[in-house]
Amino acid sequence: AFDVLIVGGGPAGAAAAVYAARKGIRVGVAAERFGGQTNDTMAIENYISVLETDGPKFALALEAQVRHYDVDIMNLQRADRIVPAATPGGLVAVHMENGGVLHARSVIVSTGARWRNVNVPGEAEYKNKGVAYCPHCDGPLFKGKRVAVIGGGNSGIEAAIDLAGLVQHVTVIEFADTLKADAVLVSKLKSLHNVTIHVNAQTTEITGDGQKVNGIGYKDRVSNAIHHVALEGVFVQIGLVPNTEFLKGTLELSKFGEIVVDAKCHTSVPGVFAAGDVTTVPYKQIVIAAGEGSKAALSAFDYLIRQPLA
Ligand code: FAD
Repeated sequence: AFDVLIVGGGPAGAAAAVYAARKGIRVGVAAERFGGQTNDTMAIENYISVLETDGPKFALALEAQVRHYDVDIMNLQRADRIVPAATPGGLVAVHMENGGVLHARSVIVSTGARWRNVNVPGEAEYKNKGVAYCPHCDGPLFKGKRVAVIGGGNSGIEAAIDLAGLVQHVTVIEFADTLKADAVLVSKLKSLHNVTIHVNAQTTEITGDGQKVNGIGYKDRVSNAIHHVALEGVFVQIGLVPNTEFLKGTLELSKFGEIVVDAKCHTSVPGVFAAGDVTTVPYKQIVIAAGEGSKAALSAFDYLIRQPLA
C-alpha cells in the first residue's frame, strides 16, 4: 500500500507528489493524463519565476520533476470510485476504471476541472487561435483587440470587466433574457464605454480565416435575426466543471460539484485530501493549484504521523 496515493497528475498532483516524496514515504500518482490542463495551454506567462513557457513543455517539466523522486507514476489510469477506510487510520481503496484497486493510508484527489464548451462550429478549430477560456491567462494576448465574452453569469461579467481594461472592445453574448451576474457587477459593466451587451443571443458559430478567429455569429432569439460581429478573440465563460463525477456520495461536494476543503486541504473523509481546480479553493490557476497540492501533501504527512503504527 502507498502512504500517499495522488489521483490526478496536473500541477496540483505533481506538486503533492514532490512534497510527499521528499518526506521519504511511499508515494504513487495515478493520472489519466499527466500534466492535466497545462497540456492544452499555449503560452504560460504567469507562473512565477518562469517568464514564458508553453503548456506541453510545462507538463513535461512537471513529470520530470516528479520522476526525479522515487514516485510510482501510473499514467493513463482513471479512478472511478474511492472507498474510505473501514476503520480510523485504515486503508483507503481507489478503484480504477480498468478494474484494478490501489490501497493507500492517505489519498490526495487532484483531478482538476474542465471548461464547459459552447459546442458551436469553430470553437474546437480555433481553440488557442483566438478561442480562450481563461481571462487571467490569455487576456493580455488580446491587448488593443476586439473580443467577445460568451456567458453573462458572474464569471462572464467578471471576465468582461477585466478584459475591457485591456482590449479595445468587448461584446458580451448571453443566451438568457438578462445577465445573471450580481447586480454590482452588471452595473459596473454597464458603466464601461467599450462594452456592448447582447441578451437573448444564441452563439451560432465562431468564424475564422483558417488561421485565427475573425468573428462570432449569434442569433437574436426574439427576432431570429442572425448577426455577425468582427473580432479577434472569444472567451467562453459558461462554467468550469470539476472532475468529481466519480466522487458523488463519497466526499462532500459544493453545489458546483467542487470538493469542499478547509484551509489545510482536508475533505469530509479522514485521510482523504484534495487540491487544485477540483476543490472549492477560488481562482483556478497553475500557481494556485501547485501551492494547494504542496499543502495537501504536508497535511497528508501530518495526518500519517498521527496514526498508530499498523
Ligand atoms: P488539472 O490540470 O485539471 O489536472 C487534473 C489531473 O487529473 C490530470 O492529470 C487529469 O488527467 C487527471 N484526472 C482527471 N480525472 C481523473 C480520474 N478520474 N482519475 C485519474 N486521473 C484523473 N493557468 C495559469 O495559471 N496560467 C495559464 O496561462 C493558464 N492557461 C490555461 C489555458 C487553458 C486552455 C486551460 C484549459 C487552462 C489554463 N490555465 C492556466 C488553468 C490551469 O491549467 C489550471 O488551473 C491547472 O492546470 C489546475 O491544475 P490541477 O492540477 O488542479 O488540475
